[in-house]
Amino acid sequence: MSPYLTYKLMKKTALCWINETIMPARDAAISVFDHGLLYGDGVFEGLRFYNNKTFMLEAHLQRLQDSASAIKLKLPYSPAQIVRAIEQLIEVYVGDSGYLRLVVTRGEGSLGIDPRKCARPNLFIIADELVVMDVNESAQGVSLHIAHTRRTPAQCLDPRVKSLNYLNNILARIEASRAGCDEALMLNMAGYVSEGSVDNVFIVVDGILKTPALADGILEGITRAVVIDAAEQAGIHCEQTSLQVEDLLQADECFLTGTGAELIPVRRIGEHVFDKAQIPLLPIIMQGFKNSIADYCSED
Ligand code: PMP
Repeated sequence: MSPYLTYKLMKKTALCWINETIMPARDAAISVFDHGLLYGDGVFEGLRFYNNKTFMLEAHLQRLQDSASAIKLKLPYSPAQIVRAIEQLIEVYVGDSGYLRLVVTRGEGSLGIDPRKCARPNLFIIADELVVMDVNESAQGVSLHIAHTRRTPAQCLDPRVKSLNYLNNILARIEASRAGCDEALMLNMAGYVSEGSVDNVFIVVDGILKTPALADGILEGITRAVVIDAAEQAGIHCEQTSLQVEDLLQADECFLTGTGAELIPVRRIGEHVFDKAQIPLLPIIMQGFKNSIADYCSED
């Protein structure tokens, strides 16, 4: 039996590492005075592990550190301690692949926004399964709704900060579900395409891959970077450039990327349904992406 958990787990149970202890996630608790809960004052990361190995761990830890620094939050544990906690969780988790949610909050304080009232940030990590959407459905592709809710501009909250403030994206997602769509397509204040509510967006035009530039107000997705790399390795050039909705509607292919989504084709945007591309590049990019996971998470 693992030294980190005092009882044996028989089936996949969501687990939580909190205060240096691992427990079933349903038993984990934080204070109602935690400013992460009261004000969304905190940052997070979503990671996947395959074959008991966390994919792109260094990149996720770096982004966590960058997000924390951007909101003047000091991580309560060192990177080495966080890596150890993740390893312990994966060791106890039933199943060799899954999803990890790493959350750092400002910590317990008083009723009042001042972060100086919070003595110590809290960090907890959840390990669980992640079912993004029905596999058959996602193989066909998802539907996107062009949301009225615009992506928060960098002058208000830098979209590169993965903060606990997701209301902007949630409102866009509510619009999408009300319109009968799977995901929202969010525009920036200038009307250019930014990203989905929890994923980055790509198109293929005449054999070239295109995705909004960081300056268009997006989260710098780690899957996005892996996909750009995999495409370049397969000889497919990628342009990071401002895109209009029209560009998406006229594209040969469109897809979303994210740690949760991995790589999902888009079947339709609003009323526009994508025809089957004459020379589809998506299967090549998808294969390159799978190879990257296999290389990174190999058993050695
Ligand atoms: N954009 C937003 C707003 C997201 O929440 C996410 C998911 N973290 C992404 C893009 C995709 O980023 P990543 O590939 O690093 O998961």
